Amino acid sequence: MKRLPAPFRIKMVEAVRETTQAEREQALSVAGYNPFQLRGEDVYIDLLTDSGTGAMSDRQWAAMMQADESYAGSRSYFRLQETVARLFGYAYMVPTHQGRGAEHVLFPCLVERARATRGATDPVFISNYHFDTTAAHVELTGAQALNALTRRAFDTASYDPWKGNFDLDRVETLIEMHGPRNVVAIVTTVTCNSSGGQPVSLANMKAVYELAQRHGIPVVIDSARFSENAFFIKSREADYANASITEIVAQMYRCGDMLTMSAKKDAMVNIGGLVCIREDRELFDAVRSRCVLMEGFVTYGGLAGRDLEAIAQGLVEAVDETLLAYRVAQVERLYSRLDEAEVPVQRPCGGHAVFVDAARMLPHVPAEAFPALALANEIYVSGGVRGVEIGSLLLGRDPKTGRQKPSPFELLRLAIPRRTYTNDHMDYVADVLIAAKGRAAGLRGYAFEEEPPTLRHFLARFRPLT
Ligand SMILES: *Cc1c(COP(=O)(O)O)cnc(C)c1O
Repeated sequence: MKRLPAPFRIKMVEAVRETTQAEREQALSVAGYNPFQLRGEDVYIDLLTDSGTGAMSDRQWAAMMQADESYAGSRSYFRLQETVARLFGYAYMVPTHQGRGAEHVLFPCLVERARATRGATDPVFISNYHFDTTAAHVELTGAQALNALTRRAFDTASYDPWKGNFDLDRVETLIEMHGPRNVVAIVTTVTCNSSGGQPVSLANMKAVYELAQRHGIPVVIDSARFSENAFFIKSREADYANASITEIVAQMYRCGDMLTMSAKKDAMVNIGGLVCIREDRELFDAVRSRCVLMEGFVTYGGLAGRDLEAIAQGLVEAVDETLLAYRVAQVERLYSRLDEAEVPVQRPCGGHAVFVDAARMLPHVPAEAFPALALANEIYVSGGVRGVEIGSLLLGRDPKTGRQKPSPFELLRLAIPRRTYTNDHMDYVADVLIAAKGRAAGLRGYAFEEEPPTLRHFLARFRPLT
């Protein structure tokens, strides 16, 4: 497996402390056996998320020092707007505090629009897979969030290069079932976070856009990991092997009318988001009005001028092919070491994370005892590594029956922050997991000590089963 050296050197460092196993046992018990409740400083290698945890470059920091903090009409706003127009070809932009801010500003305008101009009475959104805040913001408008992900994504063990693709037949069926006028928008999520950072092919994006246009439905591109998606297109889709990342990005965004973006992922900032619209001035005006109320005046949108500068520079670095190659190789390297040691992993790995199949690794721990939580806690105690459960615990209970919803998978997600950890750190993480595999048969599940009615994933407390 190739191991690319980083295309950067390190100018500033942040010390991390490797605690003792006894200290970690104590910390985890205080945290109620919920990794979300740990203090960051008690974690040695933090793979909880790749969101807002990347390392900024010297150029981003330098740009921040030169930012314009004008309340209205900041120079930094215009720099960002020009960068966006150049990369994505969309003329209109408002910044937001993060991705969910973008959803909160845009979606009600789209629903309003669909009701007024297309006579929508029973609004729905269709996505390859709605990210959790995206689905929540769709539902907040009173609309339904429907997913049409390729079925091949649900088989974690089989290889498929495009596990983020839409199932086109399913999209067509959903449009027919609900009636085109009720389909407020199609949301193309690149890469598809919920299926493990899996890419969407350009062929699929084009087909979805044609289908949407045929029915007069707008397409929103949920863009958190747009450049990783472009990199996968370049490496896996034969027609684009010789295209540059910026050319591929330009083509991807021709398959949409607007975008929402969490800039905390590929744009490599600690906070920020965007809504951009290709050309629809009326929609932009509606979005701007909501932005002023919800986020802040339209040229800062809940961010400081320096944050706008950091995003603008981050977007430029996000499409650097050398950096992307290194990034993807680092994730793949962790994946390959685990795969070679027969730790069951989702195949292939996505752009930002490796998913360990805890149901296969701990077959003796039933779903209701949360095998992926058991594995997360094991690697924290044994190695100080923090990952996150993506399975029954995250999915929660059916609000009507109060019963646990059946989850299609029990996964432990190891999300890799950008430019933050070295390949040595990844090898260490692999060693910790491989050692945990040797102890798998002895690992026990968890039961609730306290289960809050909402957001239990973040707030619940557990006790280990004996
Ligand atoms: C992270 C993410 C969001 C939400 O963005 P935040 O910045 O966390 O609010 C939306 N969609 C996708 C695909 C994401 O990965």
